[in-house]
Amino acid sequence: MMEKSFDERKANFDENYPRILEEIAQAAVKAGRSPEEITLLAATKTVPVEVINHAIGKGLSCVGENRVQELLEKYDALDKEHCDVQFIGQLQTNKVKYLLGKVSCIQSVGSVKLAKEISRLCQREGVEMKVLVEVNIGREENKGGVLPEALLECVDEIRTFPGLQVAGLMAIPPICEDTASICRYFSAVRQYYVDIAVKRMDNVSMNCLSMGMSSDFPEAIACGATMVRVGSSLFGKRAYPQR
Ligand SMILES: *Cc1c(COP(=O)(O)O)cnc(C)c1O
Repeated sequence: MMEKSFDERKANFDENYPRILEEIAQAAVKAGRSPEEITLLAATKTVPVEVINHAIGKGLSCVGENRVQELLEKYDALDKEHCDVQFIGQLQTNKVKYLLGKVSCIQSVGSVKLAKEISRLCQREGVEMKVLVEVNIGREENKGGVLPEALLECVDEIRTFPGLQVAGLMAIPPICEDTASICRYFSAVRQYYVDIAVKRMDNVSMNCLSMGMSSDFPEAIACGATMVRVGSSLFGKRAYPQR
């Protein structure tokens, strides 16, 4: 696919953004929820910073990057004053240091080892970091995240690490052919979220349930998502798809 021009990508966004907001609102209302309960995070991998800033100018208030190198390349130019920046991709422990002070939340904490490293560096730098614990809800070998049966124990350990605030859960279910299957995954994650919330553990707030992407965010909202991560439906198809 040819690289799209900035103008083309901006036009894509302008056309798609109101429609996505409307679809979010409709899905929320249909589920008996308020649209304000749901945050739209724009997944901005491969999107040039000029286009992201254009989107922020149009009201976008939260973006997520999933590669450290790409985040760093865009970071200085990014309109951070008007937009919350989060990290949503798989993260190697040796790259954590680049994210501190730059992102408000690391959504993809899928192991105690990674959480421990974030905590160690937070203490060293004297900063705090919000984290979501990623659940590998489909038990997929090629995906990050904690297996469901280990989740509670993992949250209980991570919450004790200085500098970290456990703020919720994140999940990327397997690609499903039908909505019933995807909803089973989303509902299972939602149930863990609720089960953990009722335990009222110190240093754990289940404020954010991040699930749902371009292909399935209405279903995720129906199943309780408080944040959806939408990329290609906002900015157009990526020339080089990557997760
Ligand atoms: C790319 C990405 C998304 C968005 O995917 P789309 O299908 O383009 O909406 C959401 N979450 C993560 C972690 C991603 O890497």
